[in-house]
Amino acid sequence: MAQSSVQVWEDFFKRYYWENILELAKNYPEKRTLNIQYPDFEKFDMELARELLEHPDHVLKDANDSLSAIDLPADVVFINTHVRIIKLPERIQIRELRSSDINKFIAVSGLIRKATEVRPKIINAAFKCRHCGVVTLVLQTEGKFIEPFICENDECGRKGQFKLVHEESEFIDAQKLRIQESPDDLRGGEQPQTLDVDVDDDLAGIVSPGDRVVISGILRSYQRTTQQGKSTFFDLVLDGVSIEIEDKEFEDIEISKEDIEEILSLGKDTKVYEKIIYSIAPSIYGYEEVKEAMALQLFSGIPKNLPDGARIRGDIHVLLVGDPGVAKSQLLRYAVKLAPRGIYTSGKSSTSAGLTATAVKDEFGEGRWTLEAGALVLADMGLACVDELDKMEADDRSSMHEAMEQQTISIAKAGILATLKSRCALLGAANPKFGRFDRYEPIAKQINMPPALLSRFDLIFILTDEPMVSRDTAIAEHILKAHYAGELAARRDNVIDSGISAEEITTAMEVIQPVIESEMLRKYIAYTKRKIFPIIQDDARKQLIDFYLGLRKQGEDPNSPVPVTARQLEALIRLAEASARVRLSSVITTEDTGRVVRIVMASLKQVMTDPETGKLDSDIINVGMGKSQRVKVKTLKEIIRELQEEYKSAVPLEEIISKAEESGIKKDTVEDMIQKLKQVGEILEASNNKFRVI
Ligand code: ADP
Ligand code: MG
Repeated sequence: MAQSSVQVWEDFFKRYYWENILELAKNYPEKRTLNIQYPDFEKFDMELARELLEHPDHVLKDANDSLSAIDLPADVVFINTHVRIIKLPERIQIRELRSSDINKFIAVSGLIRKATEVRPKIINAAFKCRHCGVVTLVLQTEGKFIEPFICENDECGRKGQFKLVHEESEFIDAQKLRIQESPDDLRGGEQPQTLDVDVDDDLAGIVSPGDRVVISGILRSYQRTTQQGKSTFFDLVLDGVSIEIEDKEFEDIEISKEDIEEILSLGKDTKVYEKIIYSIAPSIYGYEEVKEAMALQLFSGIPKNLPDGARIRGDIHVLLVGDPGVAKSQLLRYAVKLAPRGIYTSGKSSTSAGLTATAVKDEFGEGRWTLEAGALVLADMGLACVDELDKMEADDRSSMHEAMEQQTISIAKAGILATLKSRCALLGAANPKFGRFDRYEPIAKQINMPPALLSRFDLIFILTDEPMVSRDTAIAEHILKAHYAGELAARRDNVIDSGISAEEITTAMEVIQPVIESEMLRKYIAYTKRKIFPIIQDDARKQLIDFYLGLRKQGEDPNSPVPVTARQLEALIRLAEASARVRLSSVITTEDTGRVVRIVMASLKQVMTDPETGKLDSDIINVGMGKSQRVKVKTLKEIIRELQEEYKSAVPLEEIISKAEESGIKKDTVEDMIQKLKQVGEILEASNNKFRVI
């Protein structure tokens, strides 16, 4: 007779996992899991391993029974241990789950999108008969709570009533998760699909939203109920057996020997920067500087862990601000395609979890609190492209600072204390508040974002749409060429005997063809992030310091605005690291720092020039007001103070305006400044349109 399955498991455990079992015995009952690698078991008994995939319920039960019954040398008895199978041979895409997978043992991979609190679940309920006092035990295997039908005591046999006895019932920890397809598995803007997972005991509470995991389990189906009663449709839930957390970057990108050869030769190419720039959104004309910055962002600086436990981010944050219709959204969409683990979302229309994360009590948690990951958490170790960033929710706005600098998101709400990771680069796009960008106004005033947040971007670019004949012609020709190529291809695909040859299309497509194929570029980026960790050379360091000090120096003169803060120095370093990575260099040379100084100057000039003096002034970003404006604020406050003395009370607005105009401050500016000062509590509106300085 063939061996029983319990016997097979026992042989297997003793032969291949004895060490692990002894280890488990040492730590039992704090540890209750024995992880078994599927390939090991498959080698041992192929037939039973197949059976495990097809009919997991009884095979797993036998495995667990066998483990519980095993003779241990120590004085330990395994009562509630779990055999958890990891490394299943195949992972099924969530979108490809079908009814034939129901009740099978499967593995899915993805991101944890939501996780409820860990709460006890009753698994064996003890009911005391109110009449005779005898206790009846009822196993709770279904989702809903089952009460005994009649009292177990034959002499009583009544149908109730029963009282639940907590002390004699058995509870375990339980948690509900929602796993979402990983962005790596999605092609071109598909919406990710999700699957709910139930986990219990020591599997509960080990993952957080944003974690990348492989979950193995038994796929169950539950009948839907509608208001009309039971439906013929069923929902899928994975009954979790094991969770593997993946924490490596780009694990999933495979780079072959031939790929490496190609990467190395590209790295030596003196034109590698141009080639990369022309491989980013080739259908978009121009914007070489922006594309160069995007390239550096994709390659990223080096994250550093300091001995005091602090971590300095290596990710480079870039913001594109600009008029409508200047291809901001298109650039973002392209970046997602190139970035390993890229996520595209809009500040306005993103999910309930927004950009960062939220804690909510919803029907998913069945009354428990649920923590849901937003875009920046889901993009952990990748690139988050957030369009219409200026339209983000107020909640997000406050957690964005932490998310961008510390790259974590802390949630403290209703007893949930959690810190989620958001180690991603942010590529944001924002539209000016008043529709069009006004180059004579400071940027903080024109986009609806607090200055403290703006200062966390390493680079900010302003894309304006000013008519300029030569450029307009070039863009128009470029767009028309792209459309023409598309028209040719569409005709050839749809019309028989179109008379259009494949060569003709290739030639037409040339203008919009990336120099380096996206697939190759992704591999190139992944390779550098794995292998290239450049170190700065002395002369390059000196160049960065000189550049930084030179800018700071402008601030020494009491009449000149402070041009740059230490944040910009950090940005310079990160960008230089990225630049060295692009050419696979192990050292950062003046070639890199020179490039970076050029890009940063281009960005600073656009963003930090005080519109009234033409000088660089980082306060425009950092505090939302340039120096010349601060002088005006001071003057204005003095004017109000003087008038206040005169009036012996609050001053009417018209008075302030007319006095201020004498000092050369325009009416609009006065009204604007008064509103701002009121917001920050420096002046008070005593009564309608009468003001007082505090
Ligand atoms: P935005 O997000 O800035 O409002 P979009 O990304 O939606 O703008 O772009 C609007 C359209 O204009 C897109 O179809 C884009 O291809 C086109 N476009 C704008 N500027 C350029 C350019 N420089 N080269 C090619 N196409 C452009
Ligand atoms: Mg747009």
